[in-house]
Order: sequence, then C-alpha cells, then structure tokens
Amino acid sequence: MLSALKRILELQDLDMKMLRLMGVKKERLSELEHIAALRRDLKKQQNEKAVEIEELSKTIVIQENSISEFKEKLKKLDAKQSAIKKVEEFNALTQEMSTLERQRVATVQQTSDLIDKKHIEEEILEKIRLSLSSSEESSKSLEEEIANNINLINKEGKGLKEKRDVLSKDADIDVLKIYEKLLRNKKDRVLVPMENRTCSGCHIALTAQHENSVRKGERLIFCEHCSRILFWQESEDLEGLAVATKRRRRRKVLKS
Ligand SMILES: [Zn+2]
Repeated sequence: MLSALKRILELQDLDMKMLRLMGVKKERLSELEHIAALRRDLKKQQNEKAVEIEELSKTIVIQENSISEFKEKLKKLDAKQSAIKKVEEFNALTQEMSTLERQRVATVQQTSDLIDKKHIEEEILEKIRLSLSSSEESSKSLEEEIANNINLINKEGKGLKEKRDVLSKDADIDVLKIYEKLLRNKKDRVLVPMENRTCSGCHIALTAQHENSVRKGERLIFCEHCSRILFWQESEDLEGLAVATKRRRRRKVLKS
C-alpha cells in the first residue's frame, strides 16, 4: 500500500503545482476580462450618446421646420388682414395671429434649448471618445504582458501534464482513482501525513487506533473528519521519493 502512496505523493506534487498554476491563469484571465469589460462599457456609452445626439438633431430639424411654417402662416394672415374691412373679422385674425406668434416664440425657445442640450451631449461624447482611445492605448502593453504570461503558464502546464502522464502510467489504478476523486472535491492536498496523531489536512485529532492503522500502512486509511488519505511520514517505505525517478530514468535509457 505504501509504495502505491509513494507514486501518488509524486503525482500530488505535480497536481498542486498545476492547481497553483491554474489559479494564476484564472486571475490573469479575469484581469484581461476586466480590461475588456471597461472597454465594452465605454463603447456602449459612446454608442448610446451618439444615438441620443442623432435623435436630438432630428427633433431640432422638425422644430425648425415648424418655426418656418409658423412664419409662413403669419405672413399669409398678415396679408389677409390688410385686405379686411370688417372690424370683427379683423379682430378675429389679430387673435389668431397672436396665438400663432405665441406658439412660434415657444417653439423657438424649445429649439434653442435643444440646441444647447445637443452641444452639451456632443462635448460628453467627445470626452467618452478620448477616454476610450486613451484606455485602449494604456491597456495595450498590459494586455500584451498578460497574454505572454498566459502563454508561459500554458507551456508550464503542458510540461506538468506530460510529467504526470508518465508518472500515472504505473500508478496503482484503484488508489489513483480514489485520490483523483478526492482531489476533484477538495482542490487541495488529499494525501496528507498524520502528525502528532492529527490529520495534517484538517488539523483535527484522531484516535490512537487510527494512528496504529496509519502506521501499519496495510490499507488506505482516511481521516474520518475530512476524508483525506493519511500516511505515516516516518515510514521507511516512504523515504527517498527519488527512487522512483531513478527507476524511470533507467527505463528510458534502456529504451533508447
Ligand atoms: Zn482530516
């Protein structure tokens, strides 16, 4: 049993390196995502502002047209009025004209407010454009750096995986399965030494009976609290983990 654990310990070392590596990769990827999200947000703001300005422009054109129409109508009414002789008709027209004139003045005011608003929105749009281009500029080198970093991580990960594939070939398949299942659940060391009658995974004290079983190393002993596989560190069988490496090297030499 202990010799099987020896190989699992070697695999575990590689797996822990891989977990750390993947953790770093995840961080770096989320940094990239953060930069991309900022840019997406600015682009969205830019698009929305552009649409808003376009809508304003359309409204201003409509308003300007209706101002012209008011002027046109007033001109006609004015011409009509000069030909009128009856006082009542004359007064009615005056009434109508002053209503139109009030509407015209109100529309002119509204249009001028809209034009002011449009100018303000255009200034905001310009600011968004500037900050978008400056953030694109400044994040460029950072993004490159992160991308290079991720490349290195991928390379290192590939190396680790290759080593692991070689090592796992002659691992005890049953123990390996149990170990991998535990690893998937815990994403942490799952083959841990018992130290001072305590599981060094969850640091909870175990019984003397437990300690004896672990010391004997005849079968897999699990921590009853965290389910990790326990091993006896001082065991002679576990000394010199390099033995396995030497054996492998010898085999390689024989092949070539
Ligand atoms: Zn435990």
